[in-house]
Amino acid sequence: MGKAIYDVAIIGGGPAGMSAAIYAGRAHLRTCMLEGMSAGGQMFNTSTIENYPGFGIVDGPELSDKIEAQVRQWGTEIIYGQVTGIHRDREIFELSDAGGNLYQSRTVIVATGTKPRKLGVPGEEELIGSGVSYCATCDGAFFRDRDVAMIGGGDSAIEESLYLARIARRVTVIHRRDTLRAAKDLQERAFAEPRIEFLWDSSVEAILGQTSVEGVRVRNNKTQATSILPVAGVFIYIGTIPNTEFLQGLVPLDESGYIVAGEDTITTVPGLFVAGDIRTKGLRQIVTALADGAVAAMAAERYLGKWGL
Ligand code: FAD
Ligand code: NAP
Repeated sequence: MGKAIYDVAIIGGGPAGMSAAIYAGRAHLRTCMLEGMSAGGQMFNTSTIENYPGFGIVDGPELSDKIEAQVRQWGTEIIYGQVTGIHRDREIFELSDAGGNLYQSRTVIVATGTKPRKLGVPGEEELIGSGVSYCATCDGAFFRDRDVAMIGGGDSAIEESLYLARIARRVTVIHRRDTLRAAKDLQERAFAEPRIEFLWDSSVEAILGQTSVEGVRVRNNKTQATSILPVAGVFIYIGTIPNTEFLQGLVPLDESGYIVAGEDTITTVPGLFVAGDIRTKGLRQIVTALADGAVAAMAAERYLGKWGL
């Protein structure tokens, strides 16, 4: 059991959580930020970021490190632990983590973001870490001058294909339709990149290989013809799913599993705020996650006013 009660416990150390930590720290609130993996969240695993104002082009890990340094500067306690449970009793939240630690706080900011959606085909689980990857920044370097497949047609798939094209010999984007969902500028750059090829109207049915990836079996969704594409790596970027398992019904979710809250980040549970990608919102980006974190921390500060803190 933690000795003292925190004013603010932030769950998740991505852009939203770190921004909340900076604002809460600067407001002299006793704050902890619980992070299950590494500070930076999805931003940490992004190769290059081109739409973060003021930096031109910046590497995800570099931007993460800069923001984390600012969090530490303002005194927030960063605790590495995966939150597995939360409940509220007499206006105090109690959080438990996977290591069996308990933390108490008067307010909670949930900023747990999302995780990669899995494809759910044979070979995927078995070959994770042996050629199957959900993070080009982390694993791209293993595929220098080799052929890889990218599955997906959104911003993530195309942006990370452009990154992989600087390393791999050939990147084959396998997309289930014949048009991409990705932003037009990303599309244009991918179409102009000689190392990127496209397999349209195609779905991966199986990832092949005994001890490491050797290829994928692909079905053409229009003709139903199947073929084998030999590749050494398979990168899967088919969207994300919200990290809400630990909430166990505490707060309402929408039909896709996101926590329901408006721009004020206030939920139906008094003292519980929600920031970043995990919130119901129209645009999931670093800048909007950072903005949410700031709004949530200030909302928590106002809520704490009733304790005279
Ligand atoms: P996340 O970044 O998902 O962070 C959530 C954090 O919470 C994680 O660190 C996770 O480990 C932690 N966590 C989850 N559950 C728990 C738990 N139970 N206990 C403790 N910790 C937990 N946006 C842009 O603006 N520009 C880009 O160029 C860009 N490129 C992207 C490229 C890719 C490949 C992807 C996937 C996304 C990209 N985005 C980009 C979107 C951007 O990364 C997200 O919008 C942003 O990271 C959301 O921040 P967040 O803090 O809400 O969540
Ligand atoms: P996304 O926009 O949801 O795109 C997912 C892609 O995967 C879609 O093309 C989808 O196909 C495909 N897909 C989904 N399920 C599939 C399945 N079971 N099998 C095969 N393909 C499947 O997800 P995202 O690209 O990860 O982006 C997530 C969010 O982050 C978005 O809001 C995005 O804008 C943001 N982001 C922004 C940037 C940037 O600003 N530069 C970069 C990366 C991500 P369909 O098209 O047919 O639906």
